[in-house]
Amino acid sequence: MADKYLELVNFGVTKKLAKTLGLPRPAILRRYAPGAPLLPGPVLLLGESAEAQGIADTLLGWGLDVRRHVTGDTKLGGIILLLDELGAPGELSAPMLAAGDALRHLAPGARIVSFSRPALGTDAPATAAVRQGIDGAIRSLARELRGGATANGIVLNQEVTATAPSAVAALHFLLSGRSAYVDGQFLSIETRKGTLPANFEKPLAGKVAVVTGAARGIGAAIAHTLHRDGATVVVVDVPAAGDALAKVANQVAGTALQLDVTRADAGAKIIEHAVSRHGKLDIVIHNAGITRDKLLANMDAARWDSVIAVNLASQLAMNEAFLAAELPGLRIVSLASTSGIAGNRGQTNYAASKGGVIGMVRASASDFAANGGGINAVAPGFIETEMTARIPVPTRAVARMLMPSLMQGGLPGDVAEAIGFLASDAAAGINGSTLRVCGQSMVGA
Ligand code: NAD
Repeated sequence: MADKYLELVNFGVTKKLAKTLGLPRPAILRRYAPGAPLLPGPVLLLGESAEAQGIADTLLGWGLDVRRHVTGDTKLGGIILLLDELGAPGELSAPMLAAGDALRHLAPGARIVSFSRPALGTDAPATAAVRQGIDGAIRSLARELRGGATANGIVLNQEVTATAPSAVAALHFLLSGRSAYVDGQFLSIETRKGTLPANFEKPLAGKVAVVTGAARGIGAAIAHTLHRDGATVVVVDVPAAGDALAKVANQVAGTALQLDVTRADAGAKIIEHAVSRHGKLDIVIHNAGITRDKLLANMDAARWDSVIAVNLASQLAMNEAFLAAELPGLRIVSLASTSGIAGNRGQTNYAASKGGVIGMVRASASDFAANGGGINAVAPGFIETEMTARIPVPTRAVARMLMPSLMQGGLPGDVAEAIGFLASDAAAGINGSTLRVCGQSMVGA
C-alpha cells in the first residue's frame, strides 16, 4: 500500500540519484504530531483589512512570530492573505503579487491561507467578480507550490468576522499539520456559533463519538484520531468484521458495536449503545461504505442497490433517528468522495451515493442546527487504503504523479484529521458543507 516511490526519492542513495536524474520528487508532508509547533517559521500577513489586528492577535496568541515584511533569508512558515475587503478586480493584484514575491521564502510544509467574502448573486458585479476570482487564484497558487506547502481559504459569510470561533478554529486547522492533504480548498464560515477548545491538542475532550465502518481503513484511522483528540469512541462494523473491530476498540480504549448500518433500527441501536455505555452521544461519523464498480452498461441491480443502501440510504435513515431523539449539539460528519463531485468511470452507482451525501448534508444542516448541532461531509480523493490497493499498480503510480503539487496519495489519517476538526464544537459555525481532502486532485475512489 505504501508509496515506495516517495520513500525512494526522499531517502538514502536513491534520493541522490533521483536528484541527479531530475525525477519528480514528491515531498514528505508536514503532518500533525502532538506538541509540534503550529508552523515551521514566522507568518507573513499581507493585505489591508479591518480584520488584520484581530488575526494578528490570534496568531500572536498561538506564539507565532507575525511579520508584515520579509527580510533577508527568512524562511516563512506561512502567509496570510487578507482579501476580505476587495471590491473590484484591480484590487487583487497588489496582495497576490506581494504573495508571489514572498513564495521563494517559503519553508517546506508552509501554509498559505486567504480570508475573503463569498461572491453572491446580490453583490455588485465587480465585487462578485473579484470575490469569485480569489477562488481561482488561490486554487491555482496551490498548484504552483512545492515542498509540501499548501494554499487554502477561509470565506467569512455576512456578519462573520475573522475572530468568530469557527474562523479561528479553521485558521488553526489550516495552518497546522492536521491539514497536510487539504489543498486548494475553502472553508465557509456561516455563523458566529462555536466554542474554541480549552486546549487545541484535545479539542474533543469529554465527547462521546461513534464511528461506523471502523474495523479497518479510514474508519479505524478516524477512531484513533478522535481518541487521540480526547473523545470516548464507539466503533461500529458488520459482525463479519468482529475480530478486527474488537482490536480497534481495544486500541482506542473504547467499545465495539457489531451492527450492519443498513438495518432499519441501526440509528436506535447506536443511540442505545452510546447512551447506556457512555451516558450520551455527541458525534457520529458516517464512514461505512462499499464500492461495487462496473460500467453502467454491465451494471446489475444488486451492485447498484447495495451501494446506495450502505453509502446513502443508511445515513438518511440513521439521521432521522438521531433527529427524532433530539440529541443536544449532535455533530455529524459524513464520508463523501471526489467521485461524487467529478465523477469516475465505472462508478455511476458509487458516485450517485457520494454525490447524494453532499446533497444530504446541505439539506440536513438546518435540522441539526435546530438542536444546536450540525452536519458536514468530507470528500476524500485518492487515499492509500485497501480500497485503493485494488487499483492496478501502474494506474496507481500514474495517478499519484498526476496529483497537482503534492504528487502523492493521502493517508487515512489525513481524512481523519479533517473529520476531527469538523466534529469539534469549534466548527459549529460550519454547517452543510463538504470539505475535499484530496491534495487538489479529482482522481479518487
Ligand atoms: P474499507 O473498505 O477499507 O472500509 C470500510 C469499512 O466499512 C469496512 O470495515 C466494512 O466492513 C465497513 N462496512 C461496509 N458495509 C457496512 C455495513 N453495512 N455496516 C457496517 N459497516 C460496514 O474502505 P475505506 O477505504 O476505509 O473507506 C471508508 C470510507 O471512505 C467509505 O465511505 C469510502 O467510500 C470513503 N472513501 C474512501 C476513499 C479511498 O480512497 N479509500 C476515497 C473516497 C471516499
